[in-house]
Amino acid sequence: MSVRCRFAPAPSGQLHVGGARTALFNWMFARHQEGAFILRVEDTDASRVTEESVDQLKEALRWLGLDWDEGPDAGGDAGPYRQTERLEVYREVAADLRNRDLAYPCYCTPEELAERRKAAEARGEPPRYDGRCRRLTDEERAAFEAEGRPAALRFATGGKDVTVNDLIRGEATFPGSDIEDFIVMRSNGVPTYLLAAAVDDHRMGMTHVIRGEDLFASTPRQMLLFEAFGANPPRYAHVPLIVGPDRQPLSKRHGAVAVETFREEGILPEALFNYLALLGWSPGEEEILPREELIRRFDISAVQHHPAAFDPQKLEWMNGHYIRELPDEELTARVMPFLRDAGIDADDATVLAAVPFIKERMKTLREAGDLLRFLFEDVTPDQRASKVIAKAGPAHLKEAAARLAEVEEWRAPEIERVLTELQEGSGLSRREAWQPVRAAVTGSTVSPPLFESIELLGRERTLERLDRSAGNSPPES
Ligand code: GLU
Repeated sequence: MSVRCRFAPAPSGQLHVGGARTALFNWMFARHQEGAFILRVEDTDASRVTEESVDQLKEALRWLGLDWDEGPDAGGDAGPYRQTERLEVYREVAADLRNRDLAYPCYCTPEELAERRKAAEARGEPPRYDGRCRRLTDEERAAFEAEGRPAALRFATGGKDVTVNDLIRGEATFPGSDIEDFIVMRSNGVPTYLLAAAVDDHRMGMTHVIRGEDLFASTPRQMLLFEAFGANPPRYAHVPLIVGPDRQPLSKRHGAVAVETFREEGILPEALFNYLALLGWSPGEEEILPREELIRRFDISAVQHHPAAFDPQKLEWMNGHYIRELPDEELTARVMPFLRDAGIDADDATVLAAVPFIKERMKTLREAGDLLRFLFEDVTPDQRASKVIAKAGPAHLKEAAARLAEVEEWRAPEIERVLTELQEGSGLSRREAWQPVRAAVTGSTVSPPLFESIELLGRERTLERLDRSAGNSPPES
């Protein structure tokens, strides 16, 4: 039987790294097994789901390169793939469970339930549903109906123990006494997550359910539903949480957590893919592995049991690697939108000529803005640059301008030769001699390599900036 697995988000905001990694593990698993990866949108909670977040989610998955074989926009025989379009299916299943006495109407109000839960806790008992509506007589039921009390539908678990054989966590048995009768259909006709996801996993023919560990407690209940459907459950694999560097569950206070934010910061999708793939799973010593290789080696049962720590610095390190690997044309194409966003009116040809000199210095695409701005705009030296310029004094910059004015072939090696002569003649260290030149022409003490920067900037603008800085710096004392 060929593998079918799914990513089933409840889209209520941006896709976070936790969800992205769950999606990615499913996707790698499906691709490794040459099975199908299905996207299912669990959008029954109208108070949380927005159309915008559904679009954002799909966009984030596409950007990461996680294509789905079935799902919204892709179609498929098991659709529709949005739960709000499947409400009839859940209602039919619920009615069937009720007809077979596997579920019963529950008339308890939320207030009553809360009160009983409190009382149970006060007695030191677990706050489980006490099963009272399971035992109602026909007359009592009729009386509640006559009162017009809304009824939810509760699944009768039957008190059986359930053993989960998880691909990551191994075997765990949930005692039947711990599994309360749970609601499958709310009184408003909207199914609970427990029912909707189990019905879909069944009807959509999922062979594997790979999801976050936070859903582990749902598994015995969903397995009981499978039993009620007369079907074998899928194999489950619960992926441990992602935590921040402080070992607390990853959240916004750790910085960026949404895929969208990483994209805006200039993380490459191939880097985020590689990084997330290794978050909780390791294929061996190597860390930089192309997508095909990750797929080839992926093994869900080798995923670690303990939480994985998200390390933004490692992600940036990996991103720097992927940036350096990109061909110049490709890097140019990727950098251009970031320059535009930074308000820089850049042209492809100049950027293409410049990227070889900045790729070693970039950890994110966004950094290209600061590194290249001097090529497209007149610069005012920043605070540090101004200090360096002031310290060197105008004579040094004037001398540099005079020597550069004489350069015949305006190319980096020739520029280097001339500025080396300047340095040697001055008795200054290279740093002392060249930093002021860099500060004047790029406006910053951090820039692409100096001679190449000067070549790219061109003679006219270089001399003009040196002259201007010489003019602006205070006279030597
Ligand atoms: N919709 C659930 C969530 O976003 C996940 C469902 C599942 O994977 O079973 O938490």
